[in-house]
Amino acid sequence: MNRRNFIQISSVSLAALLVEGCNIDHELDIEYMNDMSIGHLAFESHQFPMTKKLSSKYLIVGGGIAGMSAAYALRNEDFLLFELSDLLGGSSAGSNYGKISLCHGAHYDLSYPADYGQEVLNMLAELGIVYHDAFSNSWKFSDKKYLIPKNKKSRIFDHGIFRNDVLPDGSEKLAFIELMKKYSGSMPMPTRLIDAKFHGFNEVSFLNWLQRRIEVSVEFATGLDYHLKDDYGAGAAEVSALAGIHYFACRPYYTKPVELFSPPEGNYYFIKKIYASLPKERIHTSHLVKSIVEKNHGFEVEIIDATKKEITQLTCDKVIYAGHKHALKYIYPPDYPIFEKTTYAPWVVVNVVFDKSMENEAFWQNEIISDDKALLGFVDSEAQATAQNEKRVFTVYFCFKPDERKWMSKIEERKQTFVDKTICYLEQYFDQSLKNRIEKVFVKQMGHAMPIPAPGYLLKDGNSKRSNPNLVYAGVDNGRLPLLFEALDSGISAVSLLRDGSRES
Ligand SMILES: Cc1cc2nc3c(=O)[nH]c(=O)nc-3n(C[C@H](O)[C@H](O)[C@H](O)COP(=O)(O)OP(=O)(O)OC[C@H]3O[C@@H](n4cnc5c(N)ncnc54)[C@H](O)[C@@H]3O)c2cc1C
Repeated sequence: MNRRNFIQISSVSLAALLVEGCNIDHELDIEYMNDMSIGHLAFESHQFPMTKKLSSKYLIVGGGIAGMSAAYALRNEDFLLFELSDLLGGSSAGSNYGKISLCHGAHYDLSYPADYGQEVLNMLAELGIVYHDAFSNSWKFSDKKYLIPKNKKSRIFDHGIFRNDVLPDGSEKLAFIELMKKYSGSMPMPTRLIDAKFHGFNEVSFLNWLQRRIEVSVEFATGLDYHLKDDYGAGAAEVSALAGIHYFACRPYYTKPVELFSPPEGNYYFIKKIYASLPKERIHTSHLVKSIVEKNHGFEVEIIDATKKEITQLTCDKVIYAGHKHALKYIYPPDYPIFEKTTYAPWVVVNVVFDKSMENEAFWQNEIISDDKALLGFVDSEAQATAQNEKRVFTVYFCFKPDERKWMSKIEERKQTFVDKTICYLEQYFDQSLKNRIEKVFVKQMGHAMPIPAPGYLLKDGNSKRSNPNLVYAGVDNGRLPLLFEALDSGISAVSLLRDGSRES
């Protein structure tokens, strides 16, 4: 395998990923997961029988982090939660393959400064996930076994050559760090707590804002793009300056140690902890909320049971909508215009399970910069302190442009081609053949995975424009950064808003 040829097999679009590339000449056991297909059940559901009638005070739509956090806030009340997938977690989902844990989306979080939102910190502390450390005046993770050792954190593979940092060293980086330090301590989470004097940064692009202050070479911009795409689904020219500054200044990265917390199942760890505290009979997976209609001071809701192909009718007083807002067009049309302009980056996450026969030194995050802008690299389970002894798992991440979503439906048809190319990238990274060691591959496709914090997007809470005070919105695609803490806060804020009616999150 020739690493210098890395670029030659790389491609620039999802369409190309599906038609050309490398054939590893080896049949793989591939399991494909695609929630878009469940969504399509809605179109055939007019033939399904209505078999059940239910009522509850609260309905929660969606069992991602936001919906689960809302359920936690309502855990002692009369609520029902419906999640369309067979797994809870949304873009923070996980599952098991035999005895090993797989992460199908969000992989990590970092320790929290003391000025972060107290509602979320209290919830995480109640769940036993974090505790306050008086010495550092920060919130640390209780499960120390999931912290990633500093020397195993990351390695960068830039066009076939290994480097130490995504941002190239030199005077530009020094100037950039000095600039970001000015905002350190002023960029809390959730972003609704950011002081109004910084809100103007939301109106321009990060690249534009930076170029007016420091030199930004193409090489440096490539590093910035990589970082931002990894967390926000788009590069420095597409995200707002507020989002960009927040990325680099929301924790004391340049002055204090910041813990990196990554269990093998990724942020599904948080879902499992929340789920354990909830009344199980109120949580329903494989159920798609199809329509919400206002009726008699409340709501009448149609829900598709995706397993039985039957319809349940629910009447409820209040709704927390924590599903993707683009689907409001079909589910609750009056409020669709509020969210119409949100753009989402589609993601594909590939878990490759190996037998343990590889000897290479392991790094947790293996960041790959190549001409294939969609490929972001992979997380290697071997670098986790809890390495799952009998197997090694690489979780490979691809982030596509919003307009590439049109090709997403083709991935399933051509999954072998897509996976072959993924394996080729890994073989080039390790400079050895891997195909005979692969036991199974899991592909998870997410069409509307990540709302892009473009200029003007952040801080615009759709709840202030909602048409019915008893239907509130949660989720990161409501003017939030696509991050765990924001999602947790959005669920708690939505419940507060429904309860007292006055609080605008
Ligand atoms: C690949 C990837 C990696 C990421 N990595 C990280 C990370 O490492 N750290 C981090 O902090 N953040 C990360 N993020 C972002 C983080 O995962 C999200 O911000 C967070 O999980 C979003 O939660 P949410 O509840 O707002 O939305 P979602 O996770 O999108 O949840 C929405 C849920 O609603 C369900 N739903 C939608 N419509 C309906 C309906 N009509 N009926 C029933 N259910 C419905 C969906 O199936 C889904 O489960 C990552 C995101 C992606 C895509």
